[in-house]
Amino acid sequence: MDGSPRFDTNLAAATPAPLPVTIAPGDGIGPEIMAATLAVLEAAGARLAPETVTIGEACYKAGHTSGLAAEAWESLARTRLMLKGPITTPQGGGYKSVNVTLRKSLGLFANIRPCRALHPVIPTKHPDLDLLIVRENEEDLYAGIEHRQTDEVVQCLKLISRPGTERLVRYGFALAAAGGVKRVSCFTKDNIMKMTDGLFHRVLDEVAAEHPGIAAEHMIVDIGAARLAATPGRFELIILPNLYGDILSDVAAEIAGSVGLAGSANIGTGGAMFEAIHGSAPDIAGKDCANPSGLLSAAIMMLAQNGQADIAARIEAAWLRTLEDGIHTADVYAANRSKEKVGTQAFAQAVIDRL
Ligand code: NAD
Repeated sequence: MDGSPRFDTNLAAATPAPLPVTIAPGDGIGPEIMAATLAVLEAAGARLAPETVTIGEACYKAGHTSGLAAEAWESLARTRLMLKGPITTPQGGGYKSVNVTLRKSLGLFANIRPCRALHPVIPTKHPDLDLLIVRENEEDLYAGIEHRQTDEVVQCLKLISRPGTERLVRYGFALAAAGGVKRVSCFTKDNIMKMTDGLFHRVLDEVAAEHPGIAAEHMIVDIGAARLAATPGRFELIILPNLYGDILSDVAAEIAGSVGLAGSANIGTGGAMFEAIHGSAPDIAGKDCANPSGLLSAAIMMLAQNGQADIAARIEAAWLRTLEDGIHTADVYAANRSKEKVGTQAFAQAVIDRL
């Protein structure tokens, strides 16, 4: 006997506590892709303590003007972590976006959207596309300062702050340094919006000066967008104000093959929220044909950032094998290269079979 204990009593270290996470299935295709994603997480042994809440359309109908009922706020206060399906937001009127409310409430200042080509599995004209979009998430035209001037004139104010921009840009450069990124790009329209976009550009330059090992470039957003569409492979990491980032991350995802493939992390001072980049796709809701890959990718990011990188890597490998084996949902299916067209839940089962 060497005196060492027979049993390791430090069970907490041996089996980390499950991760408390608020699960919001959302609207439209949300419940379908959430069920598929959670089935994969469970089969992979992800250690989660889920609290499922209803947010979005059902809450508005029940009279909760924020789109979130008290139980959702209480759960978020406990977990500070959310995996969220897409939410339907009416266009041109109606209630305020739940997404914008969540971003502001949790201080979700950075929206991180990785985008990479999966060529030749999902063919694209740009197989070298592999970039990270770092989008400011709380300010800009999304600050919600809109009002009616007269019956014929309405106004939306664009808000850019130095603290908000600096926090985002510093986070972007920290990601660049950690990821070995050689060049950070930034797009603004500071030739026209000289004060707001001008401040964003200036802060970018100031923070860039603290990182001599990383090249920084600035483009006016129109030519930046054109270059992104024509030669996406030349970009490694792009830092953008809110609206440009929202638009251009969908463009980048579509270049990679489908908006249905990309996930995103919303990183904040008071918590984090993970979601697919696409919306609630009402046109295909309830048909079991949506691609769950965007939400699954978001869940993989959530696990990787919360102490379960091993499980995240296993799920990602199984997901990639599923796509490589030609098991495709309708959005990425092509008769000449896919093997089987599957629905949402069958795609999840195919991933589970490859874990
Ligand atoms: P959308 O992203 O929902 O759909 C655009 C197109 O892409 C549709 O043809 C849809 O069928 C397709 N698509 C989207 N996701 C897909 C998937 N996983 N698999 C296969 N095809 C997919 O955009 P939209 O139609 O402009 O918006 C619909 C609603 O979603 C709106 O109310 C909008 O406000 C909301 N929205 C929510 C979020 C969010 O919750 N984060 C983001 C964007 C839009």
